Amino acid sequence: MKTPAGKECDFYYADFHRGRNVQVCRLIERNPDSPPWKPHLCRTCPVPDILRANQSETLKLDGKVVKKFFGFKEQVQVEGWCSACFSAVPDPMVGCPNCGRSGHRPSIFDLEEGPE
Ligand code: SF4
Repeated sequence: MKTPAGKECDFYYADFHRGRNVQVCRLIERNPDSPPWKPHLCRTCPVPDILRANQSETLKLDGKVVKKFFGFKEQVQVEGWCSACFSAVPDPMVGCPNCGRSGHRPSIFDLEEGPE
């Protein structure tokens, strides 16, 4: 679904049908330690770009709203982790440093055959 900032995000949900006025970020919603989400946070959130760059099913994201510049600015801070090897993913755009971009562990069966 497209966010108020105009980017596709799997975590955004909105319902304005028949008088309803619901807007939710499911990433922030599932973090009980985060301050509440507001629609303007989508403008600077890195998640849509991360999801476009890395579509690995093993990449999991956690997010929270943080205050910057002495509390004058809020933005979404994202941390990635890999559900295949349970390690932190420092750069979710690139992917898991242990499993590789796809999130799968490399296997000897993945090796291409050399010249005969
Ligand atoms: S804040 Fe980020 S993760 Fe949440 S809905 Fe907006 S773009 Fe998606």
